[in-house]
Formats: sequence, C-alpha cells, structure tokens
Amino acid sequence: MMKLLKNTVIPDVITGIKTTLSHFITPRKNKITPTIQYPEEQPPTFKRSRGVHYIKMNDKGQSNCVACFMCSTACPANAITIVQKEAPEEWEGRDTYPEVFNVDQLRCIFCGLCEEACPKDAIHLSNTHAPIFKTRSEAIYDLEKLSKNWRDVKETGEVQLSETR
Ligand code: SF4
Ligand code: SF4
Repeated sequence: MMKLLKNTVIPDVITGIKTTLSHFITPRKNKITPTIQYPEEQPPTFKRSRGVHYIKMNDKGQSNCVACFMCSTACPANAITIVQKEAPEEWEGRDTYPEVFNVDQLRCIFCGLCEEACPKDAIHLSNTHAPIFKTRSEAIYDLEKLSKNWRDVKETGEVQLSETR
C-alpha cells in the first residue's frame, strides 16, 4: 500500500503544501515583508541605482549640453529628443545649444548609455526612481525639469519627486 502511494503525486503535493506554508509563516515570524505600498512607499535605492535624469548647468544658468546628439544616437529606446540651435555669440566655448531637450521617462529603460556617451558631462541619471505618471506628457522631462533635478541633486543629493511631476 505504501509503495503504491509513493508512486502517486500525493507525496509531492504534501511536500509542496509544506513548503508553501513554511514561506507563508516565516516572513511573519521574522516580521519581514517584501511587499511595499508603492507608489506611496518608494522602493529602496542604492548608490549605483539609475533613475530620473538631470542636466548640469553652468554658473550662468546655461546647460552644459551643446546639443551634439551623441546621447540621442546612443539611446537604444529612442527616448531623447533634441532640437539644436546656434548659440548666441556671448555664450563662450560653444557653437550650439539645445533649444529643446526632452527625455521620455516612459520610453527610457535606464540603461545609462546617454550618460556614458556625453562628451560634456552634461546628462546624468540620478539614483531616484522615476515616479508614477498619470499622463504621457507628465513623463516628458524637458530642460526645465532636467535642470531643476540638477539643482535638487546639488542641494540634497537626490531628485525631489513631488516637485518633478
Ligand atoms: S538611460 Fe538609456 S534608454 Fe534612457 S535615455 Fe539614456 S540611453 Fe536612452
Ligand atoms: S547631453 Fe551631452 S551627449 Fe547629449 S546632446 Fe548634450 S552634450 Fe551631447
């Protein structure tokens, strides 16, 4: 009879139930809960996490970006849109600047290739996770948002999400 039982799925089913029950009970016993109430609660970030972008500005309030298209060319997700314009004569050390510079956070896969491609140390990824977006337009980070993110990072070390949206 026991040999017959061993050849059925019943022992495996019992083992499976035991494993499930042990996982069900263990987190409660140790008070570990891997589930978080996102988006009210944000997942932890780490030093090397890649999150929303920022663009560095110089002391005169001009972006370090010279609209060379290196980042948008490197981007595998086609998430960066740049419109290049001739720089005013008084802007030293550059011929062009970005009249438009948009990063679509919904297209971005946070690979960091734009950051690596930039010859001017202009575009960076912060280690702040992208927030939730209610419309597509909220997810487009233009120069204004990207420079605000830079100021946040400079002052506090991270992007302040509530003001980013
Ligand atoms: S992180 Fe990657 S996907 Fe996102 S904008 Fe930069 S290159 Fe494109
Ligand atoms: S962010 Fe850097 S790589 Fe991208 S257009 Fe500006 S200067 Fe070029």
